[in-house]
Amino acid sequence: MQIIEGIYQLLTPFPQFTIEAAKEIRSTIQAAPRVIKGLPYVLPYMIRDGGDTVLVDCGWNTDSAYESLEAGMKEHNSHPTEVQKLVITHVHPDHYGMAGRLKQLSSCEVVVHEEDAKVITARYFAPKGLIDEMSKFMEKNGVPNANSPEMSRGSMGMLMNVSPVPADTQVKGGETFKVGDFDFEIIWTPGHSPGHICLYEPNRKILITGDHVLPTITPNVSIHSQTSGSPLSDYMRSLELLEDLDVETVLPAHEYEIFDLKKRLREIESHHKMRLDEMEKCVDAGGSTAWEVAGRVKWTTGSLSDFEPWVQRSAVGETLAHLEYLYEIGRLAKVIRNKTHYWLHV
Ligand SMILES: [Zn+2]
Ligand SMILES: [Zn+2]
Repeated sequence: MQIIEGIYQLLTPFPQFTIEAAKEIRSTIQAAPRVIKGLPYVLPYMIRDGGDTVLVDCGWNTDSAYESLEAGMKEHNSHPTEVQKLVITHVHPDHYGMAGRLKQLSSCEVVVHEEDAKVITARYFAPKGLIDEMSKFMEKNGVPNANSPEMSRGSMGMLMNVSPVPADTQVKGGETFKVGDFDFEIIWTPGHSPGHICLYEPNRKILITGDHVLPTITPNVSIHSQTSGSPLSDYMRSLELLEDLDVETVLPAHEYEIFDLKKRLREIESHHKMRLDEMEKCVDAGGSTAWEVAGRVKWTTGSLSDFEPWVQRSAVGETLAHLEYLYEIGRLAKVIRNKTHYWLHV
C-alpha cells in the first residue's frame, strides 16, 4: 500500500496466520478496532526513491512471510534482491527474523542500534545459556518450581523462524541517512527493547515507530534476564522524546497508521500511570513477589494461571518493569528473602 509516493507499507504474516487471514484483518481493523489473540502481521516499510531502496523491518523468516514481502514489493515495482539497506527498529523476531535471508539475497547493509546489536549473539546464535539464566531469574521472582522450566524454555521454539545475521552498521541515534529525496533521522527510543529506534522524516512529517507507538495496543515493556536498569523509565522518557516532533503520519509496525501522535502519546502515558497504581495496590502488606502481583492484576487477555508459559513469562516481566519503576520513584521498596525478591510498601 502506498503511503505517499516513495513510501510503501508492506505486510508479512505471523507464522500462525495465513497471508489471506492477515490481509483480511489488516483491511478491516482500522474501521473496527478489536482485540485479536496474537499479532497477525508485521508492517515493513519500503522507501524507494532516486534509485535507492531501503526496507524498515522485515518479518519472521517463514516462506509465507517471504512470499508476502516479495509480492508487496513487486506491486511497487521492486524485489527483495534490490534492498540496499535494511533498517531494523529492534531485534525482536517479528521485525528481524528474515534479516539473514534478505542479506543473502541482496547483500544489503543491515542497520541495528548498538544496544540491540549486543543481544543478537546471546539470543539467536548461542541461545543455550539463556535457558539457565532464565530459570534463575524465574526463581528469584517467586515463580513456583512447577511452572519455571516451561517458562524458561518458553520462546525457544521461535528460533526456527529466525534467520539471524550480525549488524553491518551499529547506530546510536541522532544519525541521518538519505533515500533519494527523503531525509531520515534515527531516534533512539529504548523501552520496549533497549536498542529500539524510530525513523523521522521531517520534510514529509512522517514517523516510523516500530513497536514503540501503536494505535490501540501498548508494547510489552518488560524486565527479563538480559535487561538492566528500568525499561519502563526508559520507555516513558522515549515517549516524551516524540512529543515535540512535527508529525502528520505515524507508521507503526503493527495494526495501522496513526494521525494524532500527541493524543496517542497521552493515552499511552495515562495507561501506564493507571497500571502503576493497580500494581502498587496488588502488593501485600507483608510484601509480594512479582509472580504474586502478576497473578492479581487484570490482564485484558485472561488470568495468569490460564496463560501459555511464554505469555506468563512476559506477564511477569511486565509486572517487574512496573514494580521496578515504582521502586525508582520511591513508591515501593524491595528486599531479598531467601534468594527471592519481594516488593514492599514504603
Ligand atoms: Zn517488539
Ligand atoms: Zn513487534
